[in-house]
Amino acid sequence: MSIIQSIKNKVRQRSIHVCYVNVGSCNGCDIEILACLAPRYDIEQYGIYVHNNPREADILLITGAYTEQWEDKLKHLWDLIPEPKAAITIGNCPISGCAYNRRGARIDPPVSKHIPVAANIPGCPPRPTEIINTILELAPVVFKDYELKKAKEAAETERKAKGAKK
Ligand code: SF4
Repeated sequence: MSIIQSIKNKVRQRSIHVCYVNVGSCNGCDIEILACLAPRYDIEQYGIYVHNNPREADILLITGAYTEQWEDKLKHLWDLIPEPKAAITIGNCPISGCAYNRRGARIDPPVSKHIPVAANIPGCPPRPTEIINTILELAPVVFKDYELKKAKEAAETERKAKGAKK
């Protein structure tokens, strides 16, 4: 990895942008996300900024059991987020449907069937500290993997270009 890439990595780790979406929850998990923003947990002190602009996001937080209205919409939202990016599901609903998983329910969990999910935070609902810890642990790994992938691709392109010249 080049020095520029290492610097980019360091800067990104101190400015993690999070977008969040509710795909059919009871709002219990959403309240825990809101608690992260309140003074008690103050998520911004860790360099995590929550907003709802997917084009500026690094992490997508997902709550809810994935109702049929989200068919295609979640995938579209995911596609709007630029690389490097990762999705984290909050609570039991995106994993199993939780309280909504009963006959006749128009839900389609797990969310990982619809978009790639990097981490699940189980619980009904999980605690704000678990949400913050997961973001802080996952984001640096995602950023580093992305820079390593780019470095590998650049090296491969250079190698091919050299091979073509010979
Ligand atoms: S996991 Fe529990 S608290 Fe969270 S949305 Fe589902 S039912 Fe509500």
